Amino acid sequence: MSGLSPDAVELLGEHGLTAHQWAQLNGARGQWTGDVCGCPDPRCVGSHHDAGEACRCLPVLIAELIRDGSTLAPV
Ligand SMILES: [Zn+2]
Ligand SMILES: [Zn+2]
Repeated sequence: MSGLSPDAVELLGEHGLTAHQWAQLNGARGQWTGDVCGCPDPRCVGSHHDAGEACRCLPVLIAELIRDGSTLAPV
């Protein structure tokens, strides 16, 4: 699975999510269309935060997903 940075994959993993699941939930037709940091906005790096800086969107999105619970698709 390409398109997500190792940091993003690691953070997802800490919450029991795979890059594949994240793409299913936030990408288009199972393909990741967002930025490497894990934000569904493909212009996140350089727009929401600087390159090399931790993404502030991804932890929030993961927390929302976990709070909802029901939106988690099967692998
Ligand atoms: Zn973002
Ligand atoms: Zn980001």
